[in-house]
Amino acid sequence: MTDGSRPSLFWFRRDLRLADNPALIAAAEAGPVLPVFVLDRALWDPAGPNRRAFLAAALDGLSEATGGSLLVVDGPPEAALVKLASAIGATEIHAAEDFGPYGRSRDQRVHEAAAAAGHSLVLTDSPYAVRPGSVFTGSGTSYKVFTPFFRSWKAHGWDNPSGLADVIWFDAPEELRSQQATIEKPSIDIAMPEATEAAAHDTLDGFLADGVGGYGTRRDLPAVEGTSRLSPYLKWGLIHPRQVLERLGGSPGEETFRSEICWREFYAEVLFNRPDSARAAYVQKMAAMEVDEGPETDQLFTAWADGQTGYPIVDAGMRQLLAEGWMHNRVRMIVASFLVKDLHIDWTRGARHFMCQLFDGDLASNNHGWQWVAGTGTDASPYFRIFNPISQGKKFDPDGAYVRRWVPEIAHLPDRSIHAPWTEKTGAPAAYPAPIVDHDEERKESLARYDRLKRNWA
Ligand code: FAD
Repeated sequence: MTDGSRPSLFWFRRDLRLADNPALIAAAEAGPVLPVFVLDRALWDPAGPNRRAFLAAALDGLSEATGGSLLVVDGPPEAALVKLASAIGATEIHAAEDFGPYGRSRDQRVHEAAAAAGHSLVLTDSPYAVRPGSVFTGSGTSYKVFTPFFRSWKAHGWDNPSGLADVIWFDAPEELRSQQATIEKPSIDIAMPEATEAAAHDTLDGFLADGVGGYGTRRDLPAVEGTSRLSPYLKWGLIHPRQVLERLGGSPGEETFRSEICWREFYAEVLFNRPDSARAAYVQKMAAMEVDEGPETDQLFTAWADGQTGYPIVDAGMRQLLAEGWMHNRVRMIVASFLVKDLHIDWTRGARHFMCQLFDGDLASNNHGWQWVAGTGTDASPYFRIFNPISQGKKFDPDGAYVRRWVPEIAHLPDRSIHAPWTEKTGAPAAYPAPIVDHDEERKESLARYDRLKRNWA
């Protein structure tokens, strides 16, 4: 802790909240706090318009919550932060720790630049209930499988939420304020979840009041609002997982929900231990899997991305993604499996498309969600798990309500053919495409490719 009269910087990254923010509390203990957001082009430019719009709205909310003190500056962070700290005479730059590959190297650069200029970067807390790198197997290695990780994660436990930081906000002098960066707010024509801390808590309250009891069964049904919709709030730290976990009891629905929160932590742990797995196969011998490329493949990819594959549950999911910037988890698995195992397209291409569209786009959860489905990741029953889009549709959308909502061209079909319109006796609707591939054929093709790959392993 420093002399209480010295200001310090608080660098908001993916922890855009005032309550339960131990890093902000640490900054406030050091003195008045200048809240800063650095517009880092390395992160901003590749984020899709939806994520940028959500972030911009969350920053507006933070600016209001800090009485207009929030300063937005252009990056790179190591230069911008040192300049600001020097300008206001701050010795400490506070932030919550980041565990992603880019965030870790960026923080290292900031550490070095700050130290060279006589400042220090102080990292406190993390975006997770249990800090990545904290739990180990009995033999001292990192976990590679979810279920034992879940047990150890619960046994490790987490702190209670720490409440609201008692902060004296420091107003930047006019010459700094006049150099503020302008955030180009993308205009998106889809409804965006309200990007405030209060909205995150309202969403949690609503889910706990109505949804968590039946979560275990309803969470797999895309036609019903059976999940929390907390993902963009958790992604951006408008709510911390501690604040969610604190509210959960011991009912079966609550235990299932706790395990889903843990999946987010598991994937952060996996990425922390294997930073290369952000872009490359986690199971390295799967990297040589044959994938298709070229103009015909590009056409198939476009049909998938536009929700025009002729497989209703796949098209419903992809259209929900375009319309809402969110997709139901069960359907994320179905569409991902279709891209990889029916169209034989590399999972990284699908993952990039998701990251561009999702409000909750998160490198660890997204890329490891994709790898799980692609059979290159942490799934214990890997490549030969191939989702059948027809039987998945029948099982999880039995009356076709989800498909009818997103694929109106076939809404009039009876339940018996809603998931396979080409089987309808009266003929498939002309307005809806015929299947772009034959699932049974492509399933065999996928397994043949897997067999060829395995032969080379010996
Ligand atoms: P709920 O069911 O209410 O779950 C509560 C929270 O638990 C979620 O908000 C999320 O933080 C976490 N969670 C739930 N399921 C998972 C999971 N399988 N993996 C990791 N965390 C989970 N989630 C993201 O947050 N960002 C992504 O970019 C992302 N991409 C995905 C890509 C694929 C291919 C797949 C299969 C899953 C992906 N998920 C991702 C996980 C999951 O689909 C979403 O977290 C979930 O659909 C969000 O809706 P919800 O908040 O209503 O979830």
